[in-house]
Amino acid sequence: MSYQHQYVDGTRIHYPLGKVVCIGRNYAEHAKELNNPVPTEPLLFIKPGSCVVPLEGGFKIPTERGSVHYEAEIAVLLGKSLSTRPSKEEVLDAISGYAPALDLTLRDLQAKLKEKGLPWELAKSFDGACVLAPFVASSTFPDTTNIGIRLTINGEVRQDGNSELMLNPIVPMIQHMAAQFSLQAGDVILTGTPAGVGPLNPGDEMVLELPGASRFESRVL
Ligand code: ZN
Repeated sequence: MSYQHQYVDGTRIHYPLGKVVCIGRNYAEHAKELNNPVPTEPLLFIKPGSCVVPLEGGFKIPTERGSVHYEAEIAVLLGKSLSTRPSKEEVLDAISGYAPALDLTLRDLQAKLKEKGLPWELAKSFDGACVLAPFVASSTFPDTTNIGIRLTINGEVRQDGNSELMLNPIVPMIQHMAAQFSLQAGDVILTGTPAGVGPLNPGDEMVLELPGASRFESRVL
């Protein structure tokens, strides 16, 4: 299934999809639920653009590879390049939009990789591992430290977080990422998942939303 960045009104966003830069354990309650220590510095990993699929219309999961967990996250779309040490103003100016996303994770495999101290790509980069909804414009959220994210599965709220709970808030997080490697227009930042992660199953009906700004219904095919 091909993916193209777009706004909620259907307007296509003309930057090509780039990489998806992710942060792990960015909410203390989520680190705790998986018995992970809270990292002393941001734990970053990258999903390739090839793993991104649109949320709308439903998506598939590779159940034959073990437990597939959902992680609902606030996705930030960049519309400008950032490198070296961008200022807060430069980061804010580079943000084009926000959307809810799912960072899908092969949890059994990730646990094995973690145990061996190996990289997480096999658990995080499979085709379909990043499910993205259309974006709302960045002006929707003048305060980046107060953006909600909520996931409801089969009528039950499973995750309900807010960027105010992030250990690394959005702007300093992106400053830190850009200090490690260049970020480009079309790249997406996944800002970490709040508590409440769990397995997905075919047939699950879900509502993924940035409360008050955008709301999407989808399902696991
Ligand atoms: Zn995640």
